[in-house]
Amino acid sequence: MDTPIVHSSKPRVAVHKFSSCDGCQLALLDLGEDLLTLAARVDLLHFAEAGPFDPDADVDIAFVEGSVSTPEDLERIQHIRRHSRLLIPIGACATAGGIQALRNNADAAAWAAQIYAHPEALSSLARSTPISSHVKVDFELWGCPVSSQQMLAVVNSLLLGVMPRDSADKVCVECKRQGNPCVMVTRGVPCMGPVTRAGCGALCPGLGRDCYGCYGPAENANTDALAAQFSLLGLAPHAIVQRFQSINSQAPAFLAAADKARSRDD
Ligand code: SF4
Ligand code: SF4
Ligand code: SF4
Repeated sequence: MDTPIVHSSKPRVAVHKFSSCDGCQLALLDLGEDLLTLAARVDLLHFAEAGPFDPDADVDIAFVEGSVSTPEDLERIQHIRRHSRLLIPIGACATAGGIQALRNNADAAAWAAQIYAHPEALSSLARSTPISSHVKVDFELWGCPVSSQQMLAVVNSLLLGVMPRDSADKVCVECKRQGNPCVMVTRGVPCMGPVTRAGCGALCPGLGRDCYGCYGPAENANTDALAAQFSLLGLAPHAIVQRFQSINSQAPAFLAAADKARSRDD
């Protein structure tokens, strides 16, 4: 990664919101005491959800929650990129379009016409897209929502002058480490863990349910093998498409897997 690491001893930080549910900002607020410690070590210039408001500030680190889904978003993300030394999308909306990107495969205008009395009053793009589709990003934090501890680790790394490490593991690895019974092997429940990046501590299998892929695709995800396994477990092609087209639908590996499953449905 060729972007210079933050050198300032007290970096200026902004947290920006785009099209999203605010859940990833809440993950940051959920840090509690750790957030107070963090706030003493950085200059938090913009974080509207928490109080500070200066969306035009020049910063060392800009965290961006949400996807680009309005004409105003298109302009604002360019502005933020110009005013940020490091730009880090946080959460599935920012990294892969979010649940709102399901409209990318639909007729969004027809949906709006069915719901709103005056759809012409809406100002939204036909597609919802990740931040990296529009500007260079320096690191990405995945998840819906992101893990508070992962966010803390990212800020700590930057304060130490090193780029954060991306997780190379899959959810299955975390699941095995914790000794969870495998829901796919023991109960035949289709689980996205084999192709999903680690970071959540295998939260869902730990509660006896399948992973639905909210941390996005892992490196070298073997989606062909998993789709074949889903088929053996009785999922029809359209159900396999749905597995890969949920919160992280615009992640390239999941898009490709969904396209393959869709072609088998034709
Ligand atoms: S990634 Fe999930 S929790 Fe975060 S803003 Fe989007 S919908 Fe909300
Ligand atoms: S339950 Fe899911 S995540 Fe856990 S080992 Fe089985 S397939 Fe992997
Ligand atoms: S187990 Fe899967 S769906 Fe559940 S929190 Fe982790 S990545 Fe998300």
